[in-house]
Amino acid sequence: MGIEVLQLVMELEAKLKAILEEIQELKMYAYALEEQNEQLREKLYAQQQQGTAYDNLAKLYEEGFHVCHAHFGRFRPQNEDCLFCLSFLHKNNKDGSERRE
Ligand SMILES: [Zn+2]
Repeated sequence: MGIEVLQLVMELEAKLKAILEEIQELKMYAYALEEQNEQLREKLYAQQQQGTAYDNLAKLYEEGFHVCHAHFGRFRPQNEDCLFCLSFLHKNNKDGSERRE
């Protein structure tokens, strides 16, 4: 009888150890997720910033100014489309994470 109880206690102890190890793993997992979440939030914030910059440039172009590197800030006569501007805007709109030239 006494030995059986001792055996039960030892089994319980082993189970508890396993559970504690599992908790430790879950804690590491939660930590990794939190870190990843933080990185994603930073990335999203950066993209939003870039998105706002793009909107401003698109607005500037619509108002009749160049946003391309060659003629930046200059007035577009007769609101003529500029291929450099268009490709610049298109490129920035297509992929926000792409590096700017
Ligand atoms: Zn232009």
